[in-house]
Amino acid sequence: MHETVFSKEIIRVINHKLKSLDGNSKISSVSVRLSPLSHVRPKTLNAAFLQMIKTSNLKDMSLNIKSSEVELECKSCGRRFNVFKPIFVCPHCKSKGFDIKEEHEFFVESVEIEKKQDVCIWYNACPLKRFYEQGKLPKGWIEDYCWGDNSKCVRKKMEEEDRYHPDNMLPDGRIDKGLR
Ligand code: SF4
Ligand SMILES: [Zn+2]
Repeated sequence: MHETVFSKEIIRVINHKLKSLDGNSKISSVSVRLSPLSHVRPKTLNAAFLQMIKTSNLKDMSLNIKSSEVELECKSCGRRFNVFKPIFVCPHCKSKGFDIKEEHEFFVESVEIEKKQDVCIWYNACPLKRFYEQGKLPKGWIEDYCWGDNSKCVRKKMEEEDRYHPDNMLPDGRIDKGLR
């Protein structure tokens, strides 16, 4: 169950980091280091983490798992060497017996932050906001255009060019007769 403990640690670090972010930033991914000697495989950790975040506000976050460095000492020739992979053969004498000198089984290395797209300046006045809040318009439209890349919105272009556009025109320019 180490993967559960590690996943909880990732979420703890993320939540701590979130407290220091302004509203315009979000965490897009998190990078962790996992020892090649760990009993937890990267695939298992990834699956446990995704399972833990899937219904939370972190659900779009990705996890990068890299191997950490382990320092070993050969029992035969006494020399030390570092490994990143679970291949443990002394590079000097090819012996397979070793002692672990230094190992960090798991740690969160970094948290990647990205700026959120700006909410469209017309959002509060836009009829599509009202339709969305009334449950008549799927959230995808709002996420893609109003909270996402609103530079591609046909309504926005027409608004700025002072051209007439009906309330039931979708961001891609199509008319949805069901919207009223
Ligand atoms: S539909 Fe277009 S104009 Fe209206 S708020 Fe969204 S992006 Fe802006
Ligand atoms: Zn050796």
